[in-house]
Amino acid sequence: MSSIQYLKGIGPARAKALQRLEIFSVADLLHYYPRAYQDRRENPPNSGLNPPSLVIFKGHVLRTQTIPARSVLIFKAFLADGKNNQFECTWFKKRSFRNFRFDPFAQLKKDFKTNAEIWVIGRKENRQQFFEHKITVEEYYPVSAPETFLHAGRITPIYGLTEGITHKQMRQYIHQALKSAEQSQQPDILPPVLAEKRRFLNSSQALQAVHFPASLAELENARSRLAYEEFLLLATAWGIKRTQTKTISKDYSYQIKKNLLSPFRQGLGFEFTNSQKKVINEIFADLQSNLPMNRLLQGDVGSGKTLVALSAMLLAAENGYQSALMAPTEILAEQHYSTFQKTLKKLHVSVGILTSSTKTAERKKILAALADGSLSVIVGTHALIQDDVQFHNLKLAVIDEQHRFGVRQRGKLKEKTAHVDLLTMTATPIPRTLALALYGDLAVSTLTELPPGRQPIATQMASDAQARHIVEEEVQKGRQAYIVYPLIEESENISAKAVSEEFEKLKTIFPQYRLAMLHGQMSRAEKESVMKDFAAHKSDILVATPVIEVGIDVPNATVMVIQNAERFGLASLHQLRGRVGRGRHESRCILVAEHEGSVSRQRLRIICDTCDGFKIGEKDMQLRGPGEILGTRQSGELDFKAADLFKDRNILQWAIEDRDELLQADPLLQKPEHAAFKKRLLELYQQNWHLIDLN
Ligand code: ADP
Ligand code: MG
Repeated sequence: MSSIQYLKGIGPARAKALQRLEIFSVADLLHYYPRAYQDRRENPPNSGLNPPSLVIFKGHVLRTQTIPARSVLIFKAFLADGKNNQFECTWFKKRSFRNFRFDPFAQLKKDFKTNAEIWVIGRKENRQQFFEHKITVEEYYPVSAPETFLHAGRITPIYGLTEGITHKQMRQYIHQALKSAEQSQQPDILPPVLAEKRRFLNSSQALQAVHFPASLAELENARSRLAYEEFLLLATAWGIKRTQTKTISKDYSYQIKKNLLSPFRQGLGFEFTNSQKKVINEIFADLQSNLPMNRLLQGDVGSGKTLVALSAMLLAAENGYQSALMAPTEILAEQHYSTFQKTLKKLHVSVGILTSSTKTAERKKILAALADGSLSVIVGTHALIQDDVQFHNLKLAVIDEQHRFGVRQRGKLKEKTAHVDLLTMTATPIPRTLALALYGDLAVSTLTELPPGRQPIATQMASDAQARHIVEEEVQKGRQAYIVYPLIEESENISAKAVSEEFEKLKTIFPQYRLAMLHGQMSRAEKESVMKDFAAHKSDILVATPVIEVGIDVPNATVMVIQNAERFGLASLHQLRGRVGRGRHESRCILVAEHEGSVSRQRLRIICDTCDGFKIGEKDMQLRGPGEILGTRQSGELDFKAADLFKDRNILQWAIEDRDELLQADPLLQKPEHAAFKKRLLELYQQNWHLIDLN
């Protein structure tokens, strides 16, 4: 479909920003579903969509006021709604001393003329006065403006944003995309027989309604249709793939020689857990089989997936094959690299690392060594799948935390690894029964136990003050602490700013301790030196964004404070807290949450009550609030946008039935009435690592 640059208001800069959200085409935009909704209807029923601190009203302007203060200018607007409520909205602007004539409030003054009618969406400020509500305005829309109907007076979509794109813009772009799709009259992708059988909304109705629903019931109908579509596409892709893999056979084979594996095991200093042994056997059996391996290894944080991967990579090395491990972040790649180096040096197996910050000269050397086969193990980030990276005889690819790679990166990866054995690893598990229903014979291995001697991490909710107190206690004992802040609107840049501000505040709160900061906007060298210093106990408290999620291993760190815990997914919270409890000291995790209603408290309780990642995943999905109708991202190709594996079990069942019906009638989707379905399927999955060949 056409590029987004053809839409009004999207130039090269905006297009680039949208690409960060994996939006490249108008179709991508259409399928960029809201992450939540707010009920901005005029007299909404209590639908539970809106968090309690949110204020939404339509009011008229009573008066405005501009107040010049020393370094800032203040603009105030007083509004009244039809229900005897008065609101005071305040804006601050830094004074510009260069340009006295410039009025930073010109637009506000135009919009907030006396008696003008305006929709205001904001947050209550704490300092309430008499009958007046003080509001921090997040968005406002004059009732008379032509596009206000997209933003207010309705159930309004809230999108995941990135820097340089506002809520207002996003809604406008999507509205345009919907219009252009309507004009071009795309055929419905569902096979007609199935559409007839299931009687869902048609595709354009469903897309319209998922973005701009007229009612909650309509939204649910739309979501069901889109969920069905997603399930059907995926189930069909797997159905085809299953028949096809049975026909590919490998042109290489493995022998278990143990000339590396035995000394490796002896050198570890501990035994593999029974679970690790079992999983290693499963993987070795795959490698020795003449069908290419495509196995998912799931295991909780700290269950020891890395050593399982390394065992498989050593088997490859024993047989003279190259293997690669790809991680989603540099920090993680580096951690793997140093683990590997320690182990592999003794075994005289060469190992290298390749990331986007590898220096040119070094990179050249590594590329040459990969191409001539002198390097047998390589660790890296997606730098490993650039076009100029050529392997001599890569036979095994391992992907760590696979769900964190973008769809397009995964596609590239599949190109590179089409004919090798593939092991993907994740700490965000899906229940096996569901996987089986969907995939039939998907190869999944699960690490069900943690290595012995792990301390459970005592987790509690607490106030900010209590959290500080606990940090202080631990640091005084000679331990170290993490304080983690959430990502804001999915933008690392804004988050980095927010964290820097908190960092300055914390320095005044803990002047006697050594504080360090880590966020995604720092250079690799900076991050690395901050991490190294923290690991060497040259700092006591590490203030960070979730970049540490899959990174650091510091046994002396015993407390992790997570600020605004309600903004994290449970799976992320669970992974984050896995950063403590890695040594012999008792460890704790403190969740500081803003008051956000009982559902989010209930969710956080789950984290406090159990350390079992599988249980957490399952509960998390059962407890989705109405504002999270579209769910949070899940792992890997189970990364559905509309579907929810738990809520939509019935729909999944239908999709599997229908898939069988469809493939029986038309195994390679060659009939003309299946062309649109096939096209979408190839768009989604041909590039994926379950490569499908339909030509
Ligand atoms: P994850 O599954 O989260 O990737 P890691 O592979 O990073 O976990 O392992 C976590 C830690 O546990 C590492 O320090 C590793 O050396 C250690 N470990 C792994 N297996 C065992 C074992 N069988 N006995 C003791 N420690 C182990
Ligand atoms: Mg790991």
